[in-house]
Amino acid sequence: MNKDISDCTVWDNSSIFESLEDPKINKIIEESIKDLEAISEKASKFENVLNDLEATQEHAVRNAQELLCERHRIYIELSTIMTYCHCVTSVDAKNEEAKKIVSSVAPLFSNLMKMMTPLDLYIKRIDEETLSKVLNHEIIKNMDFKFSHMRKMNDFMLSSGEEKIIQGLSRDGLHNWGKLYSTIAANLEVVVAGEKMGLAMASSILRQADRKKREASWRAIKSAWELHEESVCSILNSLNGWRIEENSSRSKHKKLHYLDKSCHQSHITRKTLNSLMESTFENRTIGHRALIGMAKANNVELLGPWDILSPAPIQEGKGKLYGFKEAIDLISEAFSTLSPAMGEFAQMMYKNNWIDARETDFRSPGAYCTKFAKQREPRVFMTYDGSMGNVITLAHELGHAYHNWVMRDMHIIKTHYAMTTAETASIFGETLVRDYLYKNSKNKNDQFEIAWQDAESAAAMLCNVPARFEFERQLVEQRKKRALSVSEMKSTMNNAWTLWYGKNLSEMDDMMWASKLHFSISGLGFYNYPYLFGYLFSLGIYAQKDLHGNNFNDLYLKILRDTGSMNAVDLIDKHFGKSIEEKEFWQGSLDIVNKSVTRFEKLLN
Ligand SMILES: [Zn+2]
Repeated sequence: MNKDISDCTVWDNSSIFESLEDPKINKIIEESIKDLEAISEKASKFENVLNDLEATQEHAVRNAQELLCERHRIYIELSTIMTYCHCVTSVDAKNEEAKKIVSSVAPLFSNLMKMMTPLDLYIKRIDEETLSKVLNHEIIKNMDFKFSHMRKMNDFMLSSGEEKIIQGLSRDGLHNWGKLYSTIAANLEVVVAGEKMGLAMASSILRQADRKKREASWRAIKSAWELHEESVCSILNSLNGWRIEENSSRSKHKKLHYLDKSCHQSHITRKTLNSLMESTFENRTIGHRALIGMAKANNVELLGPWDILSPAPIQEGKGKLYGFKEAIDLISEAFSTLSPAMGEFAQMMYKNNWIDARETDFRSPGAYCTKFAKQREPRVFMTYDGSMGNVITLAHELGHAYHNWVMRDMHIIKTHYAMTTAETASIFGETLVRDYLYKNSKNKNDQFEIAWQDAESAAAMLCNVPARFEFERQLVEQRKKRALSVSEMKSTMNNAWTLWYGKNLSEMDDMMWASKLHFSISGLGFYNYPYLFGYLFSLGIYAQKDLHGNNFNDLYLKILRDTGSMNAVDLIDKHFGKSIEEKEFWQGSLDIVNKSVTRFEKLLN
């Protein structure tokens, strides 16, 4: 790198715990163990309450309130420890002390959830009148949306005993498969042109200018995953086999479709998902045009999968590189175009050392935003290399962080948004930065770089993300019959890519089922369409910016603050009077994507 990026910040989490040896950690764990013992008896009494909901009402309502508060309190304490440890292992995957703490806290979480199963069933089964009595409490009242959302899945509930068994078994069953994947990924050794490196570093080469090196790195990552293909194949078969079995057990009264479950988790309707995917499929040629333009700019006939994350091929190979503080200043100025407070927020994240961006050994790949539940402070993790793509990633994560920040005065229960709306603020942050860069760039090269970013996003969202969705859908369908072999995983991925990319790449990435971590997240399936949803949803909101002028910032904040209290359908109906169940809404956003790809094509000529 010819730009000095040594000004990258390293996060300072000492306000949370001094270190992993901080006696506070042990104290919280020990107290939680005692608290769990103390509430266990009260919680188990709900087994009996369930047998006679009417007779025991008054007493049960009070007990439910007490237990819900306790669970909430313990959850906040323990999850703060978990987040702290996760921060440590992101920077150093080999940190044994952090892993030890995680493995002692994880069972407490699991016990807490398991012991509260009868209480959750109680909340699901009581009538509306009793529910409103339970909600008549200073803290519990904040759980109203959460409860009503939960009660929508009542038809798929099992008995208290069965639910408890699933909870208990999933810790070392379902979730350990996801953990195994993370362990393999964190320890993966990639050899690029004779040089050994971790996955994070090899992945970062895919975002660099040298096309030959990118291809070498992509092939090396692929080979590294091929060494573990049987393991990852088992992981995917096990995760999906587990889910299919669980869904079928839950389908006694009514069939539980895996996409219904996913849509419920995403706070959207199946109709919304269908409209989203159909509109995108009808418009996938916009993504193809972006790929064709990107190939043209590279002077090649077709792009390879190693090109889809590449920086703009600027003449003489001199894409502008941004120092870390320079990137923060730029993002801050771009955020300020919406509101000064948002601009100041980006500077605050930098000044407080709430971003960890400096390269380390055994570092996790990717970027994420997290928050400490107790202190309500956000943190951003990424590996910064100075490219414009990286500046956009930083803007993305800071967008997430801002979303958390504007909700920090609300009760934390009211801030739990679904993964679909989770990507709203992040992509909004990206869009602000791209727009700002385009308007303020002084030369053609800079403008081209932004247009390139737009094209790359269009191709990623209109081809890559839907291909992942299609792969997972086909995986589940096939897994219903039997476990898939490695070669079936590959052909399924190949088919999904061909469906969405058409003939616009020189080859397909048939190992993506292994290299994309999202397929191996144990807690949720289909973590792919939320990105597409967030991208188009956010563009749809961005499109309202000029229409609402000075009132827009207020409206935007209201939307962000409502993300934890309503589903996405109601959210847009309430604030914009539009229906996201109709293709028309999505077409509006896709038209914006079309415009930006057309702008890219014009610059190419
Ligand atoms: Zn995100």
